Amino acid sequence: MLADKDRIFTNLYGYQPWNLAAARARGDWDGTKALLSRGADAIVQEIKDSGLRGRGGAGFPTGMKWSFMPKEPKDGRPNFLVINADESEPGSCKDREIIRHDPHKLIEGALVAGFAMRARAAYIYIRGEYIREAETLFAAVAEAYDAGLIGRNACGSGYDFDVFVHRGAGAYICGEETAMLESLEGKKGQPRLKPPFPAGAGLYGCPTTVNNVESIAVAPTILRRCAGWFSSFGAEGNKGTKLFQISGHVEKPCVVEEAMSIPFRELIEKHCGGITGGWDNLLAVIPGGSSVPLVPAAQIMDCAMDFDGLKAVGSGLGTAAVIVMDKSTDIVRAISRISYFYKHESCGQCTPCREGTGWMWRVMERLRTGDADVSEIDMLQEVTKQVEGHTICALGDAAAWPIQGLIRHFRPELERRIAENVREAAE
Ligand code: NAD
Ligand code: SF4
Repeated sequence: MLADKDRIFTNLYGYQPWNLAAARARGDWDGTKALLSRGADAIVQEIKDSGLRGRGGAGFPTGMKWSFMPKEPKDGRPNFLVINADESEPGSCKDREIIRHDPHKLIEGALVAGFAMRARAAYIYIRGEYIREAETLFAAVAEAYDAGLIGRNACGSGYDFDVFVHRGAGAYICGEETAMLESLEGKKGQPRLKPPFPAGAGLYGCPTTVNNVESIAVAPTILRRCAGWFSSFGAEGNKGTKLFQISGHVEKPCVVEEAMSIPFRELIEKHCGGITGGWDNLLAVIPGGSSVPLVPAAQIMDCAMDFDGLKAVGSGLGTAAVIVMDKSTDIVRAISRISYFYKHESCGQCTPCREGTGWMWRVMERLRTGDADVSEIDMLQEVTKQVEGHTICALGDAAAWPIQGLIRHFRPELERRIAENVREAAE
């Protein structure tokens, strides 16, 4: 279990105030000018050496992403940092806790990351439903400006750096990085084709890096404690500490910082008091937010909770939003509900997603009630393959994968429903 001294988020539960004085007492903003004086390239190298991979879900190496940004402005275009706080993945709630209780870690992280990428400013895009969190963030940014930590001559470093907070309006798709850029520009939040990636053409056509809240908030601590300290946690290729958000059928749901690669059983025993009704009662787990396939109980027990460990069992770490389902769960209904979510949130821009998400949800609903033909299971599987990899953004994949996981692991349950024609009351 991660020792308290190795936790980055020392105010995760809000036992202390979030404000600047309390944040400083916890070590934030300590010697930030000295961190910057190491130079932009040294900071990028330290983050590369730490092994930090993006905490928003995809796990792209953070230092490498930072290194894609131009070192000199091209055609007078400034560089920008955009911080993705549009946390909307069902099951995910870690960025919310950071912003609520440790906003200065995020703002200091914005400064050091922005400096390392020669960015003129950072935009923090926060989801519209996070009303109180946005208030905290606005107030924390104002405190940082008043104290000279950001703005002109940030921390006395001679570097000018602004931080803007932008509130979203409730669309899940605006968490996709290029839809977020469109939204920031005042347009309808619809994903752009990639490439070009944002580092080539991002906000207002300028070089931009989009990073998740957690990825940015851990950066100052990594720089202070060094890359070797951070990379001492976790398995090869899966380094560092990580915020896990555990919900569902556990005794004590929680958000907790742990070492990457902790086995699933240990994570649940140590922080959640076990599964409701005991381990024999575990049915399946969605280990990384609703976009990743479920894993049945037998396969997840000893699985390392990291990018590679979960990939090996056909799923993914995603946002590390661990949704635990015991045997009381109607698994078909649960996945059907997730299908509805993606149908509802599709931006409608590309046909396989716009049409496919609705089609998949309608078949899922008929499978839920047993009102389908058994041949439709294979047909549904085939449609998920037609959607997967054939859309502009990852929402199409995210809609397909949970259904694929259900068919892979619970086909007998689907067949039983059809055989028994289980008709249930609609939601
Ligand atoms: P992605 O793999 O396309 O990209 C990940 C990041 O790496 C992006 O910033 C992208 O620009 C960069 N990148 C990838 N290849 C690159 C290249 N060749 N050159 C330069 N940059 C490159 O994934 P994505 O669509 O950004 O994210 C998908 C993930 O988002 C899913 O796995 C899901 O878990 C997660 N997600 C999270 C939330 C949330 O609330 N945090 C919501 C929905 C989805
Ligand atoms: Fe929009 Fe879906 Fe296409 Fe993404 S995959 S661009 S959400 S229609």
